[in-house]
Amino acid sequence: PLVLGIESSCDETGVGIVRGTTLLTNTVSSSMDEHVRFGGVIPEIASRAHLDAFVPTLRQALSDAEVDLEEVDAIAVTSGPGLAGALMVGVCAAKALAVATGKPLYAINHLVAHVGVGLLNGGPAGNADGSADGGLPLRDNLGALLVSGGHTEILKISSITDDVQLLGSTIDDAAGEAYDKVARILGLGYPGGPAIDRMARTGNPKAIRFPRGLSQPKYMGTPEEPGPHRYDWSFSGLKTAVARCVEQFEARGEDVPVADIAAAFQEAVVDVISYKAVLACREHGIKDVLLGGGVAANSRLRELTGQRCTSAGISLHVPPLDLCTDNGAMVAALGAQLVMAGIGPSGLRFAPDSSMPVTSVSLPA
Ligand code: ATP
Ligand code: MG
Ligand code: FE
Repeated sequence: PLVLGIESSCDETGVGIVRGTTLLTNTVSSSMDEHVRFGGVIPEIASRAHLDAFVPTLRQALSDAEVDLEEVDAIAVTSGPGLAGALMVGVCAAKALAVATGKPLYAINHLVAHVGVGLLNGGPAGNADGSADGGLPLRDNLGALLVSGGHTEILKISSITDDVQLLGSTIDDAAGEAYDKVARILGLGYPGGPAIDRMARTGNPKAIRFPRGLSQPKYMGTPEEPGPHRYDWSFSGLKTAVARCVEQFEARGEDVPVADIAAAFQEAVVDVISYKAVLACREHGIKDVLLGGGVAANSRLRELTGQRCTSAGISLHVPPLDLCTDNGAMVAALGAQLVMAGIGPSGLRFAPDSSMPVTSVSLPA
């Protein structure tokens, strides 16, 4: 089926078009530049930017794919989770399109869509190093590690269309959010991820030992008796630890060793993310893991997660970065899977749900 996907859950306005599992176009407009001076995404600004960007992005996508709206078999839109006002713009636009064209509309879970993108182009659309690895065994125990400015989650996908389970997630800040906040403390600007990633290369990750959140035995428990947060993460304590560390250098009148702090912070984040993700996969018999979200760009996260997966006999799949960050192609890709599985559309009466759970892959009519 020819499916058009619309994404507006955060600061990217995305329209993607797929035919089955073939990617035709992935057109994205980001309002990231407008958030720079605030050091983070401002929901009101993001919503207004979606309003401005939607029609031009849609036109561009249709023209790039050489597709006429009339030819489309179904429309898919992110209905959650995400920023309520931002979601509202995409959902209203999608409903308007569905009404105008009479096409069926699918209300789709953003997190599961991050995984759906791994199905494209015999994929995971080739790995980030350029190699294609012949596809994911998607209906059979696939894991997904999603790490971005808005989420840090490990999912177990038994069937991408109707059986997705949340194994663990952050209980406070997302990892990308922690990067952005720490970059601000260190005066490195926004977005913080790339800046810290670069700065960390010249620092010593062992210079300071920052805490790995929720890794004490009372939270971890044992394989037989898991603790309350065995596969969960927490990054707000880490952010506070960095702030205290900077204050201490300043109080002593010493230069703040920015590169060492950046490297040690990054090591703490990446260590605990990869450790818990691989643990969750091992304990659930998962042999293939897809990495998604903007923090998938992080060189150290890829390196350490890759090493630990290899040691555990798990394959790590990393799609190209433009498919890891928020985009419309992932929404279209999941929409096509739903159509092919014979799952019905969502109708026009649904509302966006900023905290849509992963167990809900799409909304029933
Ligand atoms: P969502 O959470 O809905 O997917 P988002 O816009 O918050 O949306 P993305 O656009 O996927 O997230 O990713 C942006 C985040 O990724 C930012 O927090 C940014 O700092 C982080 N990031 C980007 N590159 C890197 C990197 N090399 N290392 C670490 N973090 C990075
Ligand atoms: Mg973004
Ligand atoms: Fe996302």
